[in-house]
Amino acid sequence: MNRGKIYVICAPSGTGKSTLVNALCKVDSQVQLSISHTTRPIRPGEVDGVNYFFVPVDAFETMIGDNEFLEYAKVYDNYYGTNINTIKNFLATGKDILLEIDWQGAEQVKKLFPDAILIFILPPSLEILSERLHKRNTDSLEVIKKRLDLALEEISHAPNFDYLVINDNFDEALLDLRSIIRAPRNKTTRMLTTIKQTFNF
Ligand code: 5GP
Repeated sequence: MNRGKIYVICAPSGTGKSTLVNALCKVDSQVQLSISHTTRPIRPGEVDGVNYFFVPVDAFETMIGDNEFLEYAKVYDNYYGTNINTIKNFLATGKDILLEIDWQGAEQVKKLFPDAILIFILPPSLEILSERLHKRNTDSLEVIKKRLDLALEEISHAPNFDYLVINDNFDEALLDLRSIIRAPRNKTTRMLTTIKQTFNF
């Protein structure tokens, strides 16, 4: 059976990552979004088992001890992790899997699965990112400043990624993402078994 591929998407807050990923999953039925475990409190509008599996710290630490995570990291003082069985089950269906995780998790995934494709989404500039964070109107000036500092730190890891996508124009960025994810499906190595069966050679 053709196994799916692992894609990791990473982006600083305010880059439009979630909107892009949701749009991608809508138009591409071959891609599944992985649901992570986290110890952070649930936010209004979020649903347990849909956005994340929300678990207490001790349960998360037991899972770490039992080697249940493909990768995990502490982000903003909360644990986040990708369950190994979720990924195995998804890949066995032949579907591609998308991990929306931070750069630390991305680097762990690449070590375990060198074939995984790491994609980093960037804002067009720091000024535009700052503008977007101000327009969201959800954070205080102090929090915005913190997010910008953190964004710069995260962006310094972008050279370790396989692809960089700049989210200036949304449609263009979505097209870039789709192209990156579609092209490997046409690799001869991935198509060959089916083609051999179809043409009987
Ligand atoms: P949020 O709490 O805003 O949903 O996510 C905070 C950060 O944690 C984001 O950068 C997000 O990509 C990252 N994150 C979410 N799930 C995982 C995960 O399973 N592993 C890692 N390493 N990071 C994650």
